[in-house]
Amino acid sequence: MNIIITKNSEETRSIASEMAKNILSVQSQDKLAVVIALEGVLGAGKTTFTQGFAEGLGLKDDVRSPTFVILKEYHMELSDKNLRFKNFYHIDCYRLKDEKDIKDIGLSEILKNPENIILIEWAGNIKKALPKNCIKIKFYYISENKRKISIQ
Ligand code: ADP
Ligand code: MG
Repeated sequence: MNIIITKNSEETRSIASEMAKNILSVQSQDKLAVVIALEGVLGAGKTTFTQGFAEGLGLKDDVRSPTFVILKEYHMELSDKNLRFKNFYHIDCYRLKDEKDIKDIGLSEILKNPENIILIEWAGNIKKALPKNCIKIKFYYISENKRKISIQ
């Protein structure tokens, strides 16, 4: 377990960006998507982290919380540092009323594709659908600009 304290949103973006770059640089023979489950109260920093992560993946798009659409898909450029991943998914389960509804967005197919990286906000709302090997990150609100981030 890794615990990081960030003192402003820029620091949270930057650790997320580093993590994304690390994931791109690791050669692995995984047969499944990489899944990162984000948990923490509203305003804890999950979307801020996701924006930094997307930047680290080299995405130019403006990543915002998909408040009304549960899922957003972004296409990544393949480069020397990224020969594996083609798609980045940002999923926000805040508005998901019933865990079963996640089936409607085709999550199980998305999870099977090793070319996908998936970040899930409010991952606790779809506990049963999460793969066992997913990376779990918890965000704790400490004070206005301070957050504790624990990476499991
Ligand atoms: P969530 O998606 O968890 O609801 P957001 O990332 O949307 O949270 O919101 C976090 C808010 O807190 C943003 O307005 C951001 O600017 C602010 N903030 C202040 N300090 C930090 C920090 N250290 N890390 C992340 N966000 C921070
Ligand atoms: Mg959010």
